[in-house]
Amino acid sequence: MLQHRIVIVGAGISGLTAATSLAMRGHKVLVLEKQAICGGLVNSFVRDGFLFDGGIRATENAGMIKPMLAELGIDLPLLPSKVSLDVEDNIIIADTKESLASYENLLKELYPDSTEDVEKVIKVIGKYDVYMQVLFGSDSPFFKDAKRDLRYFLTTFIFWLFRFLATGAAIMRMQMPMEEFLGKLISNDSLRDIISQHFFKKTPAFFAMSYFSLYPDYFYPKGGVGRIPAALQSRLVELGSEVRTETEVVRLDASRKVLVDAKGNEYAYDKMIWCADLKHLYRITTWDTFPKSKMQKMLKEKERVLASRGAESVFTLFLAVDLPPEYFHAISEGHFFYTPSRKGLGELHRSELASMLDGWETLKRETFYSWLDSFCRLNTYEISIPVLNDSSAAPMGKTGLIASFLFDYELTRRIEAGGWYEEFEKHISSSMIEVLSTSVYPQLKENILFSFSASPLRIERTVGSSEGAIVGWSFEEKIPLDATMLTMKKAIRSPIPDVFRAGQWTASPAGLPTCIMTARMAADMVHAELGGK
Ligand SMILES: Cc1cc2nc3c(=O)[nH]c(=O)nc-3n(C[C@H](O)[C@H](O)[C@H](O)COP(=O)(O)OP(=O)(O)OC[C@H]3O[C@@H](n4cnc5c(N)ncnc54)[C@H](O)[C@@H]3O)c2cc1C
Repeated sequence: MLQHRIVIVGAGISGLTAATSLAMRGHKVLVLEKQAICGGLVNSFVRDGFLFDGGIRATENAGMIKPMLAELGIDLPLLPSKVSLDVEDNIIIADTKESLASYENLLKELYPDSTEDVEKVIKVIGKYDVYMQVLFGSDSPFFKDAKRDLRYFLTTFIFWLFRFLATGAAIMRMQMPMEEFLGKLISNDSLRDIISQHFFKKTPAFFAMSYFSLYPDYFYPKGGVGRIPAALQSRLVELGSEVRTETEVVRLDASRKVLVDAKGNEYAYDKMIWCADLKHLYRITTWDTFPKSKMQKMLKEKERVLASRGAESVFTLFLAVDLPPEYFHAISEGHFFYTPSRKGLGELHRSELASMLDGWETLKRETFYSWLDSFCRLNTYEISIPVLNDSSAAPMGKTGLIASFLFDYELTRRIEAGGWYEEFEKHISSSMIEVLSTSVYPQLKENILFSFSASPLRIERTVGSSEGAIVGWSFEEKIPLDATMLTMKKAIRSPIPDVFRAGQWTASPAGLPTCIMTARMAADMVHAELGGK
């Protein structure tokens, strides 16, 4: 058996952040990763000369990623990644503070009878911009050092702390789901949909209404988002730690403090940080010799975790196109939220989806496909065009596109169980292509060189994310951990002795910033418990 002081499971952004943070302080860490490549939901790959990003498309800095890379001495070329927003043929670029006024005009042009509603929404977004600036607008204190940055702590930090606490209080007041919040604020249902349908169902209003402020904060690493985990992995190895890829952890013997991989290798640890799916942790954990009180706590949490669901997933279409980048740049920037119709999804992704699932056994295939075509026509697409950020991301004169929208895991699971996934995949892909070719990209369909797709099931199978979730727990139910923005720290220590956790299943709302924060906190706790100063 291999004996290690610190083992980290999962080499996504959380695992690598925790590992590098510990390695910088002199610890030797072993990271176990089930896939051949590190990064989890932050990954890029090349197919026939086209660079694609398989998960997150570009990353927000959030006052964390750039300071983290600087702290580690990693010098990656980071390119700007501008965001365009487009409904029908009204388009704006959300790259400066003034963009909010353009967004207001765009919405007023689309909904001339609802200008008062538009003004109300814009006012809220403007107000929440201030809070977002406090949270993510400047370098996070996580990356400041008490000795090196003493001046910062005696001056800037004190003011920041007051503003942070006020922001925290505002966040707690705005936990209401965005649908409910917008339903009370405005009466135009289509306007409500256009503002909110690309967010997860019941996203807290604070998060949805402040997201506009994050758009100018996005950047794109040259070579794809996957360059970030690759650089963290290299630095980790330089610092004397180890990453074992293709090593899937299949059992945790919590009493003996031993992890077992799929090949039967055992890894004993003093401290372990779990940076992967939490349901999986509880499914593979066994224990026998703990005191009854600890066991009760574990069992209660296990029950809550296993009964909870991940957030919605995505269906993604990857397209290699024989059209030059200029064709696409004449329309939008490289990160593009496109909605072909101002009508909005309405009940399609709510009650209509629920009633299809309820009557699944008797549902006619034509009824399903008719629903699917409307879903493709009225949805909001997140389109990413890597070559518009990084000119080396596609062969000369050609362009790679990644187009996706939120998609229900359960629907995909039932289709596959029914044995008609391939037929469905063909239908949804051609429906998406048809919508894009008859609206924003008239030359697209005739110029596709090749295409392929990824469903929620693929996300579940590759990174092991329950329900194919892309940002941890669903907002539709109570989260099984005590994990708000203000109480995150409590969730990091698990009820399993010497097991900590970090990443998108540890706090909510999750995403890269939360992953980095929880990973840094977990690393700090482990460092302190191992006697570090
Ligand atoms: C399409 C898409 C768009 C997104 N957009 C944004 C965005 O704009 N902004 C934002 O902030 N976030 C976004 N996210 C979310 C963000 O990418 C994730 O929340 C974040 O990357 C999760 O990191 P993680 O390390 O917690 O988990 P993961 O990335 O899931 O990493 C977990 C790792 O653990 C490994 N693993 C799992 N089980 C085992 C096991 N048993 N043994 C060993 N290894 C195991 C997995 O292979 C994986 O590498 C997006 C995600 C997607 C997919």
